[in-house]
Amino acid sequence: MVRTHTCGELRLSHINKQVTLTGWVQRLRDKGSLLWIDLRDRYGITQLFLEEGISDAALLQTARSLGREFVVKVEGIVAARLSKNDKIPTGEIEVKVSSIEILNASKTPPFTIEDETDGGDDLRMKYRYLDLRRNPVRESLQLRHKMAQQTRAYLDGLNFIEVETPVLIKSTPEGARDFVVPSRMNPGEFYALPQSPQTFKQLLMVSGFDRYYQIVKCFRDEDLRADRQPEFTQIDCEMAFVTQDDILSTFEGLIRHLFKTVKGIDLKEVPHMSYADAMKYYGSDKPDTRFDMKFEELNKVAQGKGFMVFDDAALVVGICAKGCAGYTRKQIDELTEFVKKPQIGAKGLVYIRCESNGTYKSSVDKFFDEIELARFAQQCNAEAGDLILILAGDQDKTRKALGELRLHVASQLGLRDKNKFAALWVRDFPLLEWDEETKKWNAMHHPFTSPKPEDIPLLKTSPGDVRANAYDMVLNGTEIGGGSIRIHDRTTQQQMFTHLGFTDEEAKKQFGFLMDAFEYGAPPHGGIAFGFDRLCSLFGGADSIRDFIAFPKNNAGRDVMIDSPSAISEAQLKELSIEVKK
Ligand code: ASP
Repeated sequence: MVRTHTCGELRLSHINKQVTLTGWVQRLRDKGSLLWIDLRDRYGITQLFLEEGISDAALLQTARSLGREFVVKVEGIVAARLSKNDKIPTGEIEVKVSSIEILNASKTPPFTIEDETDGGDDLRMKYRYLDLRRNPVRESLQLRHKMAQQTRAYLDGLNFIEVETPVLIKSTPEGARDFVVPSRMNPGEFYALPQSPQTFKQLLMVSGFDRYYQIVKCFRDEDLRADRQPEFTQIDCEMAFVTQDDILSTFEGLIRHLFKTVKGIDLKEVPHMSYADAMKYYGSDKPDTRFDMKFEELNKVAQGKGFMVFDDAALVVGICAKGCAGYTRKQIDELTEFVKKPQIGAKGLVYIRCESNGTYKSSVDKFFDEIELARFAQQCNAEAGDLILILAGDQDKTRKALGELRLHVASQLGLRDKNKFAALWVRDFPLLEWDEETKKWNAMHHPFTSPKPEDIPLLKTSPGDVRANAYDMVLNGTEIGGGSIRIHDRTTQQQMFTHLGFTDEEAKKQFGFLMDAFEYGAPPHGGIAFGFDRLCSLFGGADSIRDFIAFPKNNAGRDVMIDSPSAISEAQLKELSIEVKK
């Protein structure tokens, strides 16, 4: 090896050793007679030292010519430092330099390559290869590596086999648009990139693989909401001959294993909640359970007292914000503004302050006396010092709005601590959801999900009430994974396509291969996929998934470093039989 040690390795025990280091010049401090250089590689920083009168004059000259990010090979002797730096592991030593070889020069980088950089997002993305030299970004990718290693270790230990599935395929519907690739050899025809390996993993179950997984790229052409990537990674899994509970316990085991091995955390047993309860008590199918603040339905105490907003509402529902009775008028106005924002959509907010002296102060004093307000408080388990926040209206919208308010208040109260983790299984999702735009039922998960057998009769009468054997894992209010028990017979799969508005012909054309396969001894099976990028970012305590992806795209779906997507030549277009209108 060119180097004897890395820049993160030397300690007092190496004193007087002759060493060779390689790395990048992070900083140069020239005090005239004394010169220090911080040399960096991915393992750390080592201080190099030169001294006028002692170090060779030509060597000093070379040292003084170094700029930031020059790549060098340095030889020298390890010595104890006079003033130690206890912030870095190599802070007790420095290397007295005897030779410097410049391996490559560098232009001055467009931003400082330090933990706190002066580079904005755009600049960092354009020069991502420099950004990746920074500790926080590199550490995020190291965490990702560890997560992948531990995922493989856990699943391998349970006899799962990693199988690669193709990338040039045809549409696998996961609710997004497909990215397509023109086929030169088949003019006018296109491959689709997989939105997930869903159909292939099911086929592997038909093939008897029994336990499959893959850490795999998926592609979805969606309008990019903040922090979504058009290509992303899943831990994709499938098992045969299992019940839903077998799957949940196997993959709860995976998450627990990751927490233990990567973060040293013993994750509590993951509770189960039905979708119906999640909506009723948290107004969300991905409740953040790091804190309580459960909904209380208040129709009984709220209605019939002449307050029309309550009387006309299908649902009156509240939350108790512990210790918030002292919220000022301004703070409550801010909450009211929050719920009235168009994306939240509530018409107004009712509050009841439970004062410390046992009295109540509310925005609806005109309609409710102290005794009645006390009933609200009792219903909400509110005590003196608490603040009750109430919304009223249509059931689903009101629940969703209160769910948002619950998160907003919890953030204000510091209840959403990134270093605290609460996982949850949400199960029994509806099989179908109504799409107003197309006036059609869509599969809520995907069309291969099996309905609960006891709900099948409802398919004809009230499709929206049919529950599926589908489940999500939620971590800190974020969906990190989802899956289902699958349909594994042709007839049911065919019926499902019919309910989704496919003609028999369309279904056959698109998914005939899968239905055919179901006629050759398909075992009962089910599975799950975890969003790997998101999982890594949650483990890393970050809001964004960007830094857990080596080369991410921006919010417009562009890679600004390689400048992609980009136009292709007319010759190429012609070869692909694609005509472009001018
Ligand atoms: N293919 C599904 C998804 O990408 C996961 C699954 O059902 O296993 O969400």
